[in-house]
Amino acid sequence: MGSKQLTREDVKALAPDSKAFVVSEAIASEPWLELGRSDRALWGKFSGSGKAPYRVMVDARDELAYKCSCPSRKLPCKHTLGLLLTEVDGKTTDAKEPDDVVKWLDARDKRAKKRQEPKDATSTARSEKAVAAAKARAKKRDQNVADGVETLLNALDDVARLGLNTAQFREPKFWKDLAKRMVDFQAPGLANRVLEIAALDSADKNWNETVLRKIGLLTLLLEAAKRVENVPEDLAAEIRYALGYTFQESSVVETGERLEGEWLALGRGLVFGRAINTARDWFYHIETGRFARYLQYSRNKEFDETYPTLNGYVGAMRYWHGVVKMRATWESTPKSIGRRALPDGVGDTFQQLVEKTVQTRSNAPWTTAIPTLLKDVVVRPNVERCGKTLATQWLVIDSDGRAIPAVAPGNVQGEPRKNNFMQDFFEASYDAAVTLFGEWDGQTLTPLSAIS
Ligand SMILES: [Zn+2]
Repeated sequence: MGSKQLTREDVKALAPDSKAFVVSEAIASEPWLELGRSDRALWGKFSGSGKAPYRVMVDARDELAYKCSCPSRKLPCKHTLGLLLTEVDGKTTDAKEPDDVVKWLDARDKRAKKRQEPKDATSTARSEKAVAAAKARAKKRDQNVADGVETLLNALDDVARLGLNTAQFREPKFWKDLAKRMVDFQAPGLANRVLEIAALDSADKNWNETVLRKIGLLTLLLEAAKRVENVPEDLAAEIRYALGYTFQESSVVETGERLEGEWLALGRGLVFGRAINTARDWFYHIETGRFARYLQYSRNKEFDETYPTLNGYVGAMRYWHGVVKMRATWESTPKSIGRRALPDGVGDTFQQLVEKTVQTRSNAPWTTAIPTLLKDVVVRPNVERCGKTLATQWLVIDSDGRAIPAVAPGNVQGEPRKNNFMQDFFEASYDAAVTLFGEWDGQTLTPLSAIS
């Protein structure tokens, strides 16, 4: 294992407190199962107070890393310290790494590589030439996006002048073409907002109203984009984020607002795009009640990390710069602490939802996808005759019988919304009211999970 010899003092220095070290000395002297070492790792099984023996592993390459199946939250735990002491005492022998050890080391390598990539990019970029090239690219992009903003404002001006009932504006093609141009102008955030309009069914009786509302928010964003050079830094970051600029994860991890503690996974939203799919996992910070949205990208339907709804995690998030502060990234891999419950009393009424929307919108009026926990609600279908066909609309209804519309997640490819998506929430709230988590756009709620 490793190149340097581990000493008793080294292990003592790792102990979270002196008591843990004393206990670990006792553990090291007990019999261990399948004790082994390689040039990369140490492992063993220790029969503690649990039913099954604890699996203990140490990654002994550069910086020591540990894994133990015991429930202790101390890092390293007493079993890990004990395992290290068996090495100091010369009790471990060279052996072939067991499968679970190999798997763990491989997973660690993969994660380390992923985190390293942006950092490597920064250090390479340190050469002056590269910095100058990056600056020129950034300037070119700013110019491109500014041209895109101008183009889109002109197009929306035409829509306002000629009226939404003009035939060409009722065709998805008009909006899809406009979205493609926004991609060419390097403004994917604008492209997505235009595609949302393309995805709406112009035969729907609410089409005019919905499109006008979306155009209204979009125009606010475009007007803000024109002034992006002259607004405070956080607001500028918020605007750029909405336009579709991305920031390097590594810089977010270093400088973003940090929030540490216990987080509860609330649900995942998925967007299937033309080339790349996005997963949005929402988390609830138990201590402060703040939300965080964590994004992953994938070329297929599999994502590296899964966060089951209502599973708890301990770790630190870093928020992306901005004024709304929802998007965040894990500072390092969080520790899963198993299934947890939503704290008692958490959840808003419709009235509180409206107040929160106003608050968020006053900072960034174009914000959609506002995370929302609604308590004591049910999901019900509302069937309406629409010409010859029956249209099912969905409603979220509170205990006073007040209702807000609910929709399944949209698809940026402009495919119709799936109705069985809402069916699941109808069934989940069939017998009793639930707490619903979802994304609110100021008009409709897209539920992501039902918590009973
Ligand atoms: Zn342990």
